[in-house]
Amino acid sequence: LYYIVVGCSVSKPIKINNNANTTIEFKVDSIVNIMTLDEKIGQLNQYNGFWDITGPLPKDGQAAQKYDHIKKGLVGSMLNVKGFKDVYALQKIAVEQTRLGIPLLFGFDVIHGYKTISPIPLAEAASWDLIAIKKSAQIAAEEAASVGINWTFAPMVDISRDARWGRVMEGAGEDSFLGSKIAEARVNGFQGDLKSTKNILACAKHFAGYGFAESGKDYNTVNVSNELLHNTILPPFKAALNAGVKTFMNSFNELNGIPATGNRYLQRDLLKGEWNFDGFVVSDWGSINEMIVHGYAKDSKHAAELAINAGSDVDMESYAYVENLKALIKEGKVREQTLNESVRRVLRVKYELGLFDNPYKYCNDSIEKVTLGKTEFQEGVLDIAKKSIVLLKNENNLLPLKKSGQKIALIGALASDKTSPLGSWRIAADENSAVSVLEGMKNYPNNELKYAKGADVAIGRTEFMWETLINNVDTSGFSEAIENAKKADVVIMVLGEHGLQSGEGRSRADIGLPGVQQQLLEEVYKVNKNIVLVLTNGRPLAIPWAATHIPAIIETWHLGTQSGNAIAQVLYGDYNPSGKLPMTFPRNVGQVPIYYNYKNTGRPTMSEPDSVFWSHYIDEKNTPLFPFGFGLSYSNFEYSNITASKNILESNQFIEVSVMLKNNSSVPGREVVQLYTRDMIGSLTRPVKELKGFELIDLGPFESKRVTFKIDEKMLAFYTANNKWETEEGLFKVFIGGSSDAKLETEIYFKK
Ligand code: BGC
Repeated sequence: LYYIVVGCSVSKPIKINNNANTTIEFKVDSIVNIMTLDEKIGQLNQYNGFWDITGPLPKDGQAAQKYDHIKKGLVGSMLNVKGFKDVYALQKIAVEQTRLGIPLLFGFDVIHGYKTISPIPLAEAASWDLIAIKKSAQIAAEEAASVGINWTFAPMVDISRDARWGRVMEGAGEDSFLGSKIAEARVNGFQGDLKSTKNILACAKHFAGYGFAESGKDYNTVNVSNELLHNTILPPFKAALNAGVKTFMNSFNELNGIPATGNRYLQRDLLKGEWNFDGFVVSDWGSINEMIVHGYAKDSKHAAELAINAGSDVDMESYAYVENLKALIKEGKVREQTLNESVRRVLRVKYELGLFDNPYKYCNDSIEKVTLGKTEFQEGVLDIAKKSIVLLKNENNLLPLKKSGQKIALIGALASDKTSPLGSWRIAADENSAVSVLEGMKNYPNNELKYAKGADVAIGRTEFMWETLINNVDTSGFSEAIENAKKADVVIMVLGEHGLQSGEGRSRADIGLPGVQQQLLEEVYKVNKNIVLVLTNGRPLAIPWAATHIPAIIETWHLGTQSGNAIAQVLYGDYNPSGKLPMTFPRNVGQVPIYYNYKNTGRPTMSEPDSVFWSHYIDEKNTPLFPFGFGLSYSNFEYSNITASKNILESNQFIEVSVMLKNNSSVPGREVVQLYTRDMIGSLTRPVKELKGFELIDLGPFESKRVTFKIDEKMLAFYTANNKWETEEGLFKVFIGGSSDAKLETEIYFKK
């Protein structure tokens, strides 16, 4: 017997097989066998929430229809249902009022925290600290789980080399290796042990190529080579998969002419075929219907047909499946087997999450109260916030600041802002819930602190992420700031982007300081050159004037709830910064895309910068403002003596390459030691450098340590002209250092 029928009327649910002694596959099959076509389609249908369920039930309109569909078992998952009570109310309908009582999944964009907000993901990537990143994801999962959410639409693992693209704030930057390690850490943090009520499903997104939008314009056309796709874009997705991620989200963009949502190669052949993924793929918001505007589907019905046949299992808010799949099956355009396969994937994940054992697993009112914002979480997000800060420049040791006897002028609207530091994607966090820089600085009371806004960054902002921000042009606050600066020993200027100037749909063509901030900086500089520039932004900025003139610069991104405390601790030297840039900072937006692992052309290389024959601009340098992997410290780290244990590497062996690292200062500190390789000749041309390893090394005053990396065949592999991952025989250069500019090098030869 596959199932036991305990009631036959629609009002009495049928008891589905949940026998602990049978396998999940058996249980899933036994449900699929008794499902009606409508019920199957329902599992693939996902609706947006965002209405007050605790209030009176909606009588008409879209919300009423959604309720009705939930009751009829025509919905498999919801997104954006806010809060425990709403989740509980809807789950109860699904479990108690539908024929089969299949529980719902509740998805939410828990991108960098739920109530307690961690640094934006790009900032966290700057920590290179996989343990702290995992911890941050765990905190986010535990908070979200406490309000009933059981699925986050994170991590975003899209690689991007384009600082104009607003969503770089949500990823791990430009590098595939670092991106893969971070993808793994985040998946482990969110999902951990799925049996636990503190972990939730993760989702690797956006599959694939979203970060390579032409001109950095969100949603734009993506045209990439097969080689770029496999060597650069896909590895973090593969890493997420290997870490056990249960869901993938496809993408709004087209990839080489085929929208990702209708892309059979990506979803069916690669992900579910070659990679053997057994979870499910959710579409991006409305992306099934977007295929109509792409000019790929003629109407919603056609879009549904293309999407499901290509392997998109769940329809997020297109209504394309719920409205069309039945007819498509009857017409034979979609095989019922295809539908069944998608349904199986969804049910399997629900089983794995334990929802059939306890649909209310995440619904416990008392847990919510003791979980949200708890002290331990505040400490966790403060820790990762400090680790995410990158010291970009520190002439004459202007930093750290002296703790007493100083007159400090603090300038910038962002210095007192308590919402902007939360960054984009913080839907559930409260306005004004971040510690501002001004508040953080007040923790050091023995200096005289004077604050002036100087100028707003942007106006017209509101809480909701889609409101338009208009750059401010008002300079009437300049004079107060300038007067304060004149009298100060040190000026701290907090400038950059408002938290909602990066993120989805927030591409920028000019990536300098928005509004009149550049002007403000230059005016203040005229009266006091002792400026510490505290940058706060969601993407690399092109700030060549500041990099030349301003003596000290720290990159603080959008650091989340504990922002001001983290920044003040770094400014005052209670935390020695150790972050390294996960994305190249250009001198000029015209250099974008600019990234460290570029390829040589047939022309003389960058080592001959004066040659007029090389690939170059006549009005700008080729080099970046700050390279990938770069970041200073209050310690002074010195690298010397690179050695290799041998020079010939054979399959199944490894070579140890090491350097001496010395902290030539009295300040204890942490250095991110980076290993890069270069494949000198390949069946496809190879990048000038590729990150292959990194170690976080803590050194006391004047302490030295030999840092060793193991290199093996697998590490040197790439997606070759044979369309597979393999290591080609030949010479490799190996570099070790504190940034992608690493100068110490040795050579090894890989012999097959
Ligand atoms: C974004 C996704 C997100 C989804 C649900 C889309 O606009 O591209 O990343 O998960 O909305 O909010």
